[in-house]
Amino acid sequence: MSRLFRSLLDLLLPRTCGGCGRVLALDEELVCPSCLRSVGREKLRNWECNPYFARLDAHESLVRVGAFAVYVRDSIAAHLVQRLKYGRHHELGLWMGMWAARELQPTGLFAGVDALVPLPLTPRRLRWRGFNQSEKIAEGMSKVLGIPVRTDLLRRTLDRESQTHFHADRRRQNAALAFEATDVDVSGKHLMLVDDVMTTGTTMLGALRALEGNADTRFSVFVFAWTPLG
Ligand SMILES: [Zn+2]
Repeated sequence: MSRLFRSLLDLLLPRTCGGCGRVLALDEELVCPSCLRSVGREKLRNWECNPYFARLDAHESLVRVGAFAVYVRDSIAAHLVQRLKYGRHHELGLWMGMWAARELQPTGLFAGVDALVPLPLTPRRLRWRGFNQSEKIAEGMSKVLGIPVRTDLLRRTLDRESQTHFHADRRRQNAALAFEATDVDVSGKHLMLVDDVMTTGTTMLGALRALEGNADTRFSVFVFAWTPLG
């Protein structure tokens, strides 16, 4: 896009920062420099031993579990995720995936991963939102890492949002049933499941359960942001 055209467009339709909502300058893309600096990063960086790893690790097939940012109420990471999901801002998802992949690649989080597997939405939710936010994040990661995105391995069967009235125990059971693996053979592969946010790990656990029936498949997990587990 030419600079003149962009400046005309900015006048007519001011672009705002995905983190704080401030109007962006001509040369700023999607997120302002101040938000870029102040997004709360996950400093832990021990992807093979952390509270989420412990929560998801039921089998020996889990390799690494990691996140880019820390998700707390009203944080910049939370604003980015909300704008991506509810503002239907899918370009932001690509950008978030690229950003996280670039910064975390040197930590070894993605080493040896054969495919990125975004957690699918139910068909109903996908129609409503128009895109899968986790798939956009995975696509952004793929551009940086050169690891393919696979959307043909996992299907969503139950609608998580429609079962909020269930008791917590029942919800946990349902989460395990909410995904099913397709009949694509993934034995011997190292799959990285990708989601936007992890707050309890229940949904992710459901996805892992669905896939782990495959012999000698290894798994890693990446989320853009997670809530700190106490
Ligand atoms: Zn900002």
